[in-house]
Amino acid sequence: MSKRSVLEPLFAAWREASPVARGCIDVLRSARHGDLPRWTAALAQLPRLRASTASFGATVSAGFGSGDGPLDGKERRDLEQALWGLLPWRKGPFDLFGVFVDAEWRSHLKWARIAPHVELAGCRVLDVGCGNGYYGWRMVEAGAESVTGVDPSLLHTLQNAAVGAYLGHGRNLVLPLRLEDLAVQQPFDVVFSMGVVYHRRDPAAHVRALAGHTHAESTVVLESLVVDGAPLKPGRYAAMRNVHVVPNMALLRRWLADAGFRHAELVNVSTTTPAEQRATAWMPYHSLANALD
Ligand code: SAH
Repeated sequence: MSKRSVLEPLFAAWREASPVARGCIDVLRSARHGDLPRWTAALAQLPRLRASTASFGATVSAGFGSGDGPLDGKERRDLEQALWGLLPWRKGPFDLFGVFVDAEWRSHLKWARIAPHVELAGCRVLDVGCGNGYYGWRMVEAGAESVTGVDPSLLHTLQNAAVGAYLGHGRNLVLPLRLEDLAVQQPFDVVFSMGVVYHRRDPAAHVRALAGHTHAESTVVLESLVVDGAPLKPGRYAAMRNVHVVPNMALLRRWLADAGFRHAELVNVSTTTPAEQRATAWMPYHSLANALD
């Protein structure tokens, strides 16, 4: 496939999905990111394969059936090189035709803590700061009718396009938008914001913006770093840039109440360890273990 047309299948799904998704075609076409040529070359190198099996379980997978044998030879090398061309993979894991994308985050661990607490069957879902859409596939597994993810990182959109080349583009959109730039449309039944709020300069405004995409019966899942004592204003935290505030539970509850949410419920508190977030071949830079004291 030529580099020019490599995004056409993705754009076709966006045209179908909604006016907002349609508008993102121009966002991507006019993007000037310096790595964009490398990323589109990577997408162009993806071998054209038809998956006969798909799984949206802990490892999100596409592959051949048992009778088809493994992928090898040139197609396997092309697939590996294409996926390497989209480094770094922060969220995963994925398995595409036997190529295991061992991402920095073993994101299934977070999803296992959250999924039992939220009903997604038949729901229209918005995932704010969705990364490459790993969780979106899990939301599809949980019965979501549609998942719209927004994340300003173009690489995340293109990683989703690579996975979508084998799992389909329509069900789990990753649109290259910031929440602030997402026009209010038909409200969503469930809105996720995981790992985003403490990166925002005005976290209370972020929570209000989440509320702007809900209806009276919607559920919002807000996942954040928290501290026990007074909120921190660290600038950097655990090697993450742009951490503006690490709230405590009281402050999180205040942001939610001020945005009009009722019935705030705490469902899980856990500690992130290097078993969950670590450098791998697919994310070879510094990770959590380098940042802990
Ligand atoms: N939700 C994922 C990823 C968290 S990392 C998880 O829980 O694992 C935070 C993500 O938020 C990044 O991918 C970043 O690009 C995205 N992000 C940052 N600012 C944003 C904004 N204004 N609107 C939407 N997403 C944003």
